[in-house]
Amino acid sequence: MKRNAFLKTSSAFVAGSVLLPTMACRPEAKKTVVPEAPRVTRANWAANYAYKAPNLHSPASAAELQELITRLGSQKALGSRHCFNDIADSPLNQISTANLNRLVSIDPATKHVTVESGMRYGDLAPLLEKEGLALHNLASLPHISIAGACATATHGSGVGNGNLATPLVAFDLITPDGQLRSLTREHPDFHGAAIHLGALGVVSQLTLQAQDTFQVAQRVYLDLPLEQAVRNFDAIMSAGYSVSLFTDWMDQKVSQVWIKSRLGTDHEVTSSDFYGAVAADRDVHPIISLGAENCTPQLGVPGPWYERLPHFKMGFMPSSGEELQAEFFVPRENAPDVLQAIERQKDSINPHLHISEIRTVAADDYWLSPASGREVVAFHFTWKKHPDEVPGLIRLIERELDPFGLVPHWGKLFSLAPALLHERYPKMGEFIALARKYDPEGKLRNAYLDLNLFG
Ligand SMILES: Cc1cc2nc3c(=O)[nH]c(=O)nc-3n(C[C@H](O)[C@H](O)[C@H](O)COP(=O)(O)OP(=O)(O)OC[C@H]3O[C@@H](n4cnc5c(N)ncnc54)[C@H](O)[C@@H]3O)c2cc1C
Repeated sequence: MKRNAFLKTSSAFVAGSVLLPTMACRPEAKKTVVPEAPRVTRANWAANYAYKAPNLHSPASAAELQELITRLGSQKALGSRHCFNDIADSPLNQISTANLNRLVSIDPATKHVTVESGMRYGDLAPLLEKEGLALHNLASLPHISIAGACATATHGSGVGNGNLATPLVAFDLITPDGQLRSLTREHPDFHGAAIHLGALGVVSQLTLQAQDTFQVAQRVYLDLPLEQAVRNFDAIMSAGYSVSLFTDWMDQKVSQVWIKSRLGTDHEVTSSDFYGAVAADRDVHPIISLGAENCTPQLGVPGPWYERLPHFKMGFMPSSGEELQAEFFVPRENAPDVLQAIERQKDSINPHLHISEIRTVAADDYWLSPASGREVVAFHFTWKKHPDEVPGLIRLIERELDPFGLVPHWGKLFSLAPALLHERYPKMGEFIALARKYDPEGKLRNAYLDLNLFG
């Protein structure tokens, strides 16, 4: 899956760098050949960004984590590496949470679930299911760490569903001075700190509000006329508990509508026609040319929440693998205009695109959430790994969507001017003050934070 060509990206694009495959050593006659040690380069999941931090630490307990944090200088937490930019990098030390992956406790009375920060949704979900519990929503893939997802306001879809940090009840943060701070919802810093981009400390554990388990059935409809999506956007996006539109922007069509209905509460859409789209008669992948075996079951077959809310199955490659991602949020009322604005750029976009996805995210009250104080619609782009063209296309989309007040996904590729980010997040100044309070020596700072927040 991984290629050895990398687009070196930061949140603003910088010149490309290429990581070369290990060079084979050609033995010369009568010389003792010492094979060159393989060049170990660590990269993010998509292999488009090579981490610069020379040191990677993988503590196995909260005590070890706390000792490391206290001892190390420059440092940053590393989750499951699914971001597409340099947000998780550090000039010196990355602290991986991969071994902090245990379920700590479940309180049956309150349905509060406490997990170590490196636990992945896909590992937690079956444990919750055994206890008759569920989370309100999941992203397109279950492979990501819970702390990493919360840190960047990762989201799924659904008009009533907030991002994945919205069920947070409390979390423990170890600040660079080694102090453990427990932030509950009542703590004055909680709403500022919940979406923190790794700028406040390393989260050691989190407590989430679970709910009773539920079943979901998902159906896919093909070839929704774009004009219907524009005219009936709210009705279409409200047709299920979680609805996603997938499109390559061509032929005045939305290629696929994925409707995930919560059984028992939703009125399940079962008709053969949905606003002019036709029900798929087989399971499909959002990128129609790929096989559906990596995808969660469709055709209305009911299943537990965690095997239907993500599009991709745990243990299988999510999405395409050979890709770059960008995503932009606009206030919900702008979505029909934005659909049309992006469609007008289809001839530029389409040759370099695997697929776009359009989802809704409910409002929340976190300072750095793209949905802070308003419902938003997320316009996502899974690009082909075309590093020469994609940065320009992202700039094009940012220009086209600027009048609609876009903000980018913190964990994906973007080049929006820091001044605009500051303008669009009214609490940015307060967040920076919080970061300075928790990390006065700037040990958690990296190029991403310096550029976008502190610059
Ligand atoms: C195939 C694919 C599909 C995706 N689908 C979606 C989707 O459906 N919706 C969506 O919104 N996003 C999606 N994403 C983006 C992804 O979910 C986010 O970027 C998320 O942040 C990844 O979590 P991670 O643990 O891999 O984070 P990392 O990339 O490892 O880190 C992200 C940030 O979190 C911080 N962090 C991680 N752990 C901790 C901790 N314990 N304490 C403090 N800070 C921490 C890091 O320092 C960094 O700043 C997708 C990505 C991929 C590759």
